[in-house]
Amino acid sequence: MEIQLQNSLTRKNAPFTPISPGHVGMYSCGPTVYWFAHIGNMRAFLFSDVLRRTFEYNGLDVTLVMNVTDVGHLVGDVDDGEDKMIVAMLREGKSGYQIAEFYAQAFFSDLAALNIKPAAVYPRATDHIPEQIEMIQSLERKGFTYRTSDGIYFDTAKLPSYGRLSGQKSEDKMAGARVDMAEKLNATDFALWKFSPEDAEREMEWESPWGIGFPGWHIECSAMSKKYLGLPFDIHTGGIDHIPVHHENELAQAMGADGVLEANVWMHNDFMTFDGGKMSKSLGNVYTISNLVEKGFDPVAYRYFVLGSHYRSKLNFTWEAMEGAQNALNKLRNIVREYPGTTPNPSLQKEGRRNDEIPSPFKGEGQGEVFASRFLAAINDDLNTPAALAVVWDLIHDATIDDATKAATLLRFDDVLGLRISDYLGKPVEVPADVAKLVQLREEARAEKNWSESDRLRDAIAAKGFSVKDSPQGTKISLA
Ligand code: AMP
Ligand code: ZN
Repeated sequence: MEIQLQNSLTRKNAPFTPISPGHVGMYSCGPTVYWFAHIGNMRAFLFSDVLRRTFEYNGLDVTLVMNVTDVGHLVGDVDDGEDKMIVAMLREGKSGYQIAEFYAQAFFSDLAALNIKPAAVYPRATDHIPEQIEMIQSLERKGFTYRTSDGIYFDTAKLPSYGRLSGQKSEDKMAGARVDMAEKLNATDFALWKFSPEDAEREMEWESPWGIGFPGWHIECSAMSKKYLGLPFDIHTGGIDHIPVHHENELAQAMGADGVLEANVWMHNDFMTFDGGKMSKSLGNVYTISNLVEKGFDPVAYRYFVLGSHYRSKLNFTWEAMEGAQNALNKLRNIVREYPGTTPNPSLQKEGRRNDEIPSPFKGEGQGEVFASRFLAAINDDLNTPAALAVVWDLIHDATIDDATKAATLLRFDDVLGLRISDYLGKPVEVPADVAKLVQLREEARAEKNWSESDRLRDAIAAKGFSVKDSPQGTKISLA
């Protein structure tokens, strides 16, 4: 079945065809490690994870590359302001490398907490200075660069196709935006190499053919994606804020230096807002995954929350919505705890793969087939995760399907959803002794028709995080 994806270059959905059959090369712009990634940033990484998992579900191998920006990303994306890393160095009194290492590790632990599959490689900008210099030299040879007093710039007027991603030409930018032209020839021109300030020493600076300095933000992604994936590669992802500047400029660099599109398909997630507005430190509403954990949420519930909206829709974060996601996930987990544990049914297992074939995606079995085909149609329709979650609940609520089929089918759906269903499937809740005692007392109270005592005990059990449900088979205990 075809995977339909929306390409930001065309703003249309089209069937995806990998450059090499059976394999997808994917580059996702990673974090700038000067601070903790906030939950809005994590939406971008969850989107790229679901995309990667969707390819794998369809039987494609994926090589995912995600950069870690540890130099050159200025406070303003348009070559203005201080380097974000320098801001952090001044704030924390540490070296740039210490800051980068600390926040990169925090980022990796957030990825793990959200069950985001690791990339094949996380290249750092500071480890790839020669590659970036080489690409700038190649642009220089082809006549795309010029020198100002503060750096080497890309002359966007020399590239007729400039603006193909954002649809924004340099004249439009001139009209609308506050662009500090300095010595730039065109408003859309951008720095490839910045010279170190003469009066101050920078920790992160390197020799180059143009003088001591550091690379611009965009060249790192072009140089590193080329090194690890080759040009062109299949998919490039990021948040929509990257379209007008960062990705437009990456595209221009690859086109200028190598005469090819950097990636065939460019995909962008829309933004997450907070209570309908922007998340910003000054408003005090920038939250991290650790902040969610401090408030008692499971990071996977945040994953569930994000899956509940299409990646190209705006998503508004509220604490009520977060609680709703946590409750839905708890409910799902409580349900699968009651399903039989996995005695893998061979026909529902992942099939082995011969070298010369692309295996077909999971088809389901028996009555599970209808749901498997609905699920596949949903995710292959430009990652319609809300529809995919609806299939999960429809399957759970279908009274005609046995629990073993439901269990096996859900496990395969979870290859895409990543809700850690296997950690819960067929694993009854472990009830601590004090709660078990309260449950026993409650059963005795019920037998004596002492309803007020039974209600009191129900509340006491709830206060310990458990809930009881009375059924003809006896009392069922689950996590509240
Ligand atoms: P940065 O570290 O600023 O380069 O951002 C990392 C990723 O998060 C990029 O792909 C951004 O486009 C994305 N991003 C930033 N803010 C948000 C937000 N509020 N909602 C969704 N994605 C975001
Ligand atoms: Zn990038």
